[in-house]
Amino acid sequence: KPRVLSGIQPTADSFHLGNYLGAVRQWVALQDTHDAFYFLADLHAITVEHDPKLLRKRTRTSAAQLLALGLDPARTTLFVQSQVPEHAELGWVMQCLTGFGEAGRMTQFKDKSAKQEVVSVGLFTYPILQAADILLYRPQYVPVGEDQRQHLELTRDLAQRFNSRFGKTFTPPEAYILKDTAKIYDLQEPGAKMSKSASSPNGIIELLDDPKVSAKKIRSAVTDTGREVVFDQENKPGVSNLLGIFSALTDRTIDDLQTAYDGKGYGDLKKDLGEVVAEFVTPVRDRVKSYLDDPAELDKILRAGAERAREVASATLSRVYDKTGFLA
Ligand code: ATP
Ligand code: MG
Repeated sequence: KPRVLSGIQPTADSFHLGNYLGAVRQWVALQDTHDAFYFLADLHAITVEHDPKLLRKRTRTSAAQLLALGLDPARTTLFVQSQVPEHAELGWVMQCLTGFGEAGRMTQFKDKSAKQEVVSVGLFTYPILQAADILLYRPQYVPVGEDQRQHLELTRDLAQRFNSRFGKTFTPPEAYILKDTAKIYDLQEPGAKMSKSASSPNGIIELLDDPKVSAKKIRSAVTDTGREVVFDQENKPGVSNLLGIFSALTDRTIDDLQTAYDGKGYGDLKKDLGEVVAEFVTPVRDRVKSYLDDPAELDKILRAGAERAREVASATLSRVYDKTGFLA
């Protein structure tokens, strides 16, 4: 089976719909046909200021959400990044292969650092650690949202650079990005992506929010001038975003929705989308609650995942250390 790998940061109490539609939904779909590795990127979560207690809580809540959304630890290796020390170790080797200017071209760093009061070196080098995260497992595909495309390119470049300096070791992995859901936008700022750490609370639809709160956020989403419900990314980014989410959650096509809302207004679309979201999140929230009722069991699943992950990761790291010239 071809291998896939991806990760998500435990940087918030809840995932948002962008995380689900852009990434996690594909993770769930791929676990049947692929050898799947998915991890909670807690090393990445400390690149911005964090509270240790909250991080521990969020790591468990994130794991519970992944399970509630359909990841099956029997078929998938689900683990926590910091429990596999090879990530940090390969990360160092990758840092030494990356040019300073090359790292400086990462647009996500520019966006994120502009919003932080204190900018850590870790935030700057995070895409390089991410390259290590990926290459350790030698996957063919990396299912992510559009915002990760540039980081995936860096990963491919570093894989090729390592190969050309030290001999063939890695196959550059490919980004697996589904066009329709690659970028879900902030409800209040439809030019920016919905983000756990950068969006305002009203800009994101959180899976664990009370559906009434989500419905209210959708009702107050920034829409566009005019009143026709038509998909037009350029001139009507707000309405287009709502249509995209609606379509993704119901499997109704955009065309079908445009026809259904012909002659109706934004208000009807928003009201109905609130109901669609409620229907989706309600069972997910219940399942998350029941996983969180038993944190010891959750920790056990993650420990077992880390053990399986380490088998693959340590084999790759040994090869890399050997080729780099470290003593065995
Ligand atoms: P943070 O703001 O802390 O970076 P995030 O919302 O960007 O959080 P990540 O944990 O960085 O979430 O990313 C997890 C996955 O979700 C990645 O594959 C990323 O590409 C995807 N993703 C994040 N935001 C969106 C979005 N708005 N639309 C589609 N996919 C997204
Ligand atoms: Mg992110």
